Amino acid sequence: MRIATRTSSILLAAAVLATACPGRSGPTDTTKPGPGDLPANSDPLAPVSPAAVRDAIAKLTAKHGASHTAAIQAGVEQAASLWRASDGDFAAFCVEHYLATPAARDALFGKLQGTVEQIRGHVLELGRTVRWGTEVEDGPMQPIDQLLATYDIGAHVVDDLFTSKVAFAILLNFPRATLAQKIKDGPGWNRRTWAEVRLTGIVDTRVPGELAGAASAAEAAADQYIAGYNLWMHHVLGEDGKRRFPSGKRLISHWNLRDELKANYADADGLAKQRTIAKVMERIVTQTIPKAVINNPRLDWDPVTNQVTAAAEIEADAPKDRTATPSDEREPDMRFETVLGHFRAAKAIDRFSPIAPTRMARAFDSAELSEERVRGMLVEILESPLAAEAAREMERRLGRKLEPHDLWYEFGAGGTAEAELDAITRKRYPTAEAFAKDLPRILRDLGFTAARATYLADHIAVDPSRGAGHAMGAERRGDKAHLRTRVEAGGMDYKGYNIAVHELGHNVEQTFSLYDVDYTLLAGVPNTAFTEALAFLFQARDLELLGRPKPGGEADRLRVLDAFWNTREIAGSALVEIDVWHWLYDHPEATAAELREATVKIARDVWDRFYAPTLGGKGTTSLLGIYSHTIASPLYLFNYVVGHLIAFQIEEHVEGKDKATFANEFERVCRLGNILPDLWMQQATGKPVSSQPLLGATARALAR
Ligand SMILES: [Zn+2]
Repeated sequence: MRIATRTSSILLAAAVLATACPGRSGPTDTTKPGPGDLPANSDPLAPVSPAAVRDAIAKLTAKHGASHTAAIQAGVEQAASLWRASDGDFAAFCVEHYLATPAARDALFGKLQGTVEQIRGHVLELGRTVRWGTEVEDGPMQPIDQLLATYDIGAHVVDDLFTSKVAFAILLNFPRATLAQKIKDGPGWNRRTWAEVRLTGIVDTRVPGELAGAASAAEAAADQYIAGYNLWMHHVLGEDGKRRFPSGKRLISHWNLRDELKANYADADGLAKQRTIAKVMERIVTQTIPKAVINNPRLDWDPVTNQVTAAAEIEADAPKDRTATPSDEREPDMRFETVLGHFRAAKAIDRFSPIAPTRMARAFDSAELSEERVRGMLVEILESPLAAEAAREMERRLGRKLEPHDLWYEFGAGGTAEAELDAITRKRYPTAEAFAKDLPRILRDLGFTAARATYLADHIAVDPSRGAGHAMGAERRGDKAHLRTRVEAGGMDYKGYNIAVHELGHNVEQTFSLYDVDYTLLAGVPNTAFTEALAFLFQARDLELLGRPKPGGEADRLRVLDAFWNTREIAGSALVEIDVWHWLYDHPEATAAELREATVKIARDVWDRFYAPTLGGKGTTSLLGIYSHTIASPLYLFNYVVGHLIAFQIEEHVEGKDKATFANEFERVCRLGNILPDLWMQQATGKPVSSQPLLGATARALAR
């Protein structure tokens, strides 16, 4: 389920993504030089001169004494790393804003923590306001609502912190840390130090507007490329030349192709369809797909022979601009040109991101797990001998040998009687308001005390949602978390109820981790995987909250096997992507064709090593390169794997506990706040993030 973006992450991301308004200056910008103060040919992005840094250190040492030299040097160097010569007199700024005494720094910390909470909180509220019309079911949508929804109130917050020089006062007085330092020293830090590191983390990167704009443009181009990448399946012929998909079925790569493949397990003619889809995926990754057949129902295509012919019948909603002339000319590596677009934009930004100077470093930095840790967990999942056991059970169930496309096999959901449950939830929740009224009872039934249940319900507003539902936390104390839930005219159906309970889990986490955390700079959880795992704990109890028995036995066993197989599937694709980006940084001048060749080779190597032993296809399949994420938002895939692991680890921690203990533990772990993932998990469950809970649950499921 989607969780609305937290403003904290907007603020952090803004440094990298926001388009700046070049030339804007702060309102009380006393140290900024006038137009005549800089030589006409000077580079406005030039860093501060070493002489100015030495000058600042000397003046501050003279002012505060030699015993402060080490602290002065650290603060000055942090501020200098992002100061530009065009920002003005560096030494004068440092002399005015460097604070030497603990009391003065405490006061500054308190003021900044309160201010950041207000900025984040109000930016979030304004964002909620401008998107109200598109998100909340509140009468017919107006054309203006679409425009308001794109109005990004927080886009320039980080830029403005630099323009106003607030960012430099932060960097001058509080410690900044790289991921490696957080991992090495973080376990010994107290909560206040963590809060200070979160404060400097808001302003640890300062990307020039035009480069941030170029990165956004690369993302927009990639989104557009993927959004138009549809296959009209009625016109995709099977390996025997037969037409198996219904007219009008249009599938976007890779999501719809994969979901169709999964759905085909329930189809009598499914195997032939699945082989066709796998072949289509291969053609896309290797870029041997004919360019003319992409998003084009005017042409028939046989992906095995690659033969293209004019279609006899064409769907009414066919795109107007597509050719009807058959051509087997391949797609000219656009897929990899798109990846190169991200790479070039990232390379340009690298030198402005001193603490994470590559796109890869920034990806692991934002997950706050080292690449080594992530890679270790991916390989652990991939190397587990449980895969062979799971594959044997799959073969028994399918009654055939496995094939490469069984990468997407589903062990099957529980099969609850949804119609019966729909009747119950529709009656109980005719409106969103009825669900809101029931919140205290739901929370008491989950194990919270009456007082805590009332407290939580008082901090959560329920709105009827236009979409499937989402949770939007508050960012400042005094504001409420919002639960968006979809209620049809006849009342809330079971699916909607199931989602609403999930979103309630988010809202409860959001409330505890904002209102009951010791420092608001530590509000939240380490990353979205954690809040998803916590929301899932609520969702898994939804039937009990309706007074129904907890699903157990076979349904639960299959759920675990599904999670294992699915995690293992993404782990391979994530590993391929990380290796591809290493290759890119090693070959910065690569052409799109060279990148394609490297990607296909890496995908085949990973396949041969980890998948071919159970699924076959050795040396031929590059299915691990199909994920659209790798094209649209690179280096995010590994987060899904880590998310699955975290969910199992937290679930294992509360499993079998009585309700009151469950509620107490839920509150306790939420109050840990936004610290390093491994530290959070250590303090929550006694161990760092680990693949063992998922592997353990899988071993038990296979043994049953
Ligand atoms: Zn969610």
